[in-house]
Amino acid sequence: MTSTARAYAAPSPTEPLISTTIERRDVGPRDVLIDIAYSGVCHSDIHTVRGEWGPIAYPQVVGHEIVGTVSEVGAEVTRYAPGDRVGVGCMVNSCRECVNCLAGMENYCLKGNTGTYASVDRDGTITQGGYSTHVVVDEDFVLRVPESIPYESAAPLLCAGITTYSPLAHWNARPGTKVAVVGMGGLGHMAVKIAHAMGAEVTVLSQSLSKKDDGLRFGADHYFATSDASTFETLANSFDLIINTVSAPIDLQQYLSLLSLDGTMVNVGAPAEPLPISVFALMGNRRSFAASGIGSIAETQEMLDFCAEHGIAPETELISADAINDAYERVLTSDVRYRFVIDAATI
Ligand code: NAP
Ligand code: ZN
Ligand code: ZN
Repeated sequence: MTSTARAYAAPSPTEPLISTTIERRDVGPRDVLIDIAYSGVCHSDIHTVRGEWGPIAYPQVVGHEIVGTVSEVGAEVTRYAPGDRVGVGCMVNSCRECVNCLAGMENYCLKGNTGTYASVDRDGTITQGGYSTHVVVDEDFVLRVPESIPYESAAPLLCAGITTYSPLAHWNARPGTKVAVVGMGGLGHMAVKIAHAMGAEVTVLSQSLSKKDDGLRFGADHYFATSDASTFETLANSFDLIINTVSAPIDLQQYLSLLSLDGTMVNVGAPAEPLPISVFALMGNRRSFAASGIGSIAETQEMLDFCAEHGIAPETELISADAINDAYERVLTSDVRYRFVIDAATI
């Protein structure tokens, strides 16, 4: 038996999202039923519904920054109870058997983790995401949202937060580390706040200086415009770590030249197009280029607790569900300050 949820879905790659209903699976023994309160809007949602990352099945509901309240639990659920404040991020299952899953890194499941949307679920149906009134998720993929993080603004931590926390932690951002964040949108503004909280010296590399005051308020020490060619001369050979959050292709050579000896540039931005690299840009200064994908469930909980401890919350603009198509246009013109969050009561 299934239950009906209201949702906003993309009918095709080219049409606006529309109000509709979808079926959620019945609450199984290890499942948690979550009444969604807020759902963040990630640029990945746009890449996905528009087919930029490859064909998907329609209609498709996206959204993988979900915060809500547990309303029912299955008979074997041990960690959650009705009334708990919880979150769901970018994945809802994994194979649980491969070497990466056994190492607690389900985000790198060798069989591919089950995405919160546009993935084949264990019952063969296509997963439908968070722009919806409720969702059923295996308790192993549910996070606990600390009380001290404001309910309305917690949702973006479930993707933008963990996707930036994970590489900052892995590449050891700490006092004395010089970190640059390229692009200050949803992911970028979280990267600034988290890197600052980790004690790093943080520089924002944005297309213009229009958001400089915000960047400094979020904890950046320096802020430069990449439209100004002198930026690349001024900052040559100066960063230990660059986190690239840009959703479009950029000239990697220019940015790699900003890394100091043994520095690493990590791409979290996921444009569909390949990004060409000259090996000579890496050879000088023995630089590395890497990419990072979301984070594990354990690391996501660690990130939520870190944000609670450091008083970090995303900057959000709350919208009603019928404003989603306008919000997409604003994300695409870098006019987001800094994450749209859908009030699920309006779905
Ligand atoms: P977003 O809010 O749109 O932020 C992207 C920022 O990149 C913009 O605010 C803008 O910052 C900059 N930018 C946009 N177009 C640009 C261009 N043509 N040239 C230079 N800079 C440009 O998007 P988001 O939600 O943070 O997501 C960013 C990317 O990360 C997307 O590709 C998304 O799919 C990907 N992502 C990856 C993962 C992962 O696991 N790796 C997880 C989540 C998202 P300024 O205005 O400051 O220049
Ligand atoms: Zn995302
Ligand atoms: Zn696996």
